Amino acid sequence: MPDTNAPARIIDGKAFAEGLVGRVTGAVARMKEKIGVVPGLAVVIVGEDPASQVYVRNKGERTLAAGMRSDTHRLPASTTQAELLSLIAELNADDGIHGILVQLPLPAAIDANAVLDAISPDKDVDGFHVVNAGRLAVGLPGLVPCTPLGSIMLLRDALGDLSGLHAVVVGRSNIVGKPMAQLLLAENCTVTVAHSRSRDLPALCRQADILVAAVGRPEMIRGDWVKPGATVIDVGINRVPSADPAKAAEGKTRLVGDVAYAEAAAHAGAITPVPGGVGPMTIACLLANTYAAACRALGHEPERL
Ligand code: NDP
Repeated sequence: MPDTNAPARIIDGKAFAEGLVGRVTGAVARMKEKIGVVPGLAVVIVGEDPASQVYVRNKGERTLAAGMRSDTHRLPASTTQAELLSLIAELNADDGIHGILVQLPLPAAIDANAVLDAISPDKDVDGFHVVNAGRLAVGLPGLVPCTPLGSIMLLRDALGDLSGLHAVVVGRSNIVGKPMAQLLLAENCTVTVAHSRSRDLPALCRQADILVAAVGRPEMIRGDWVKPGATVIDVGINRVPSADPAKAAEGKTRLVGDVAYAEAAAHAGAITPVPGGVGPMTIACLLANTYAAACRALGHEPERL
């Protein structure tokens, strides 16, 4: 039983992610030494969105630092859907590329679903392809979306066996909420998925042994929605004005999650901070997925990371 009077344990996603990246780097080096193959990740970006440019640069640098091949394809905003699909077809056929990631959002003129579904499911390191969603739903091995995969790793590390725990996931997006619910079900949790039409959300949340917030609304989940001793995973990343009015007036901002952290930490047994919780796990899991995709392409079972 958790000690409900003790302060919440902070789940250090940054440290866990560093460890995971270290294990991926080691596995990649062993793969290169044994079979002479280097996993390759291709990242495709269309247009000039500044935030996307930063994410893509970061992904490229982290991929290289893990000892993998990194190819970045920067396409102009005027790129047509046919041109993008043609590049995806080339990358699908390239044996040196084991993972393909198309940075979202895409320009409005391009149908993002058509593009994501054109990626070979075995190279779909974001885990967004409908085939990978299906594999996850029926319990077959596949590529799992990085953010929920990172969240479940943190939960297993924090709690060990999750069997029988009641997990409440707030949010039902295809990239976070739904795959998170599937992963929790696979861990034998009893799972409730809440969304914008759910009735009495605070009461639902108070039933949770594990509360996962993936809503996209800054600090929406309040402290008294958290059952004493519960484990809180805050997936949200929201940029809001600085708490200091003078700095806010200068346009300074800060990051907050979907959970009111200080309030929730007063009730929770363990909680992920923002930043430094789930966020760093996403890129670490992208590297892990690229390594796993390369192993499977070669008929090898990936090392347990
Ligand atoms: P979406 O906007 O796609 O989905 C949000 C979900 O929250 C929807 O299911 C929506 O319900 C639900 N929701 C919205 N308002 C409410 C409300 N008032 N009460 C209950 N449920 C509500 O977001 P994502 O899943 O893509 O992202 C969620 C959060 O996670 C965001 O803050 C995002 O920035 C962050 N994120 C973080 C990542 C990371 O690396 N850590 C990666 C990806 C996302 P409905 O379906 O009914 O509309």
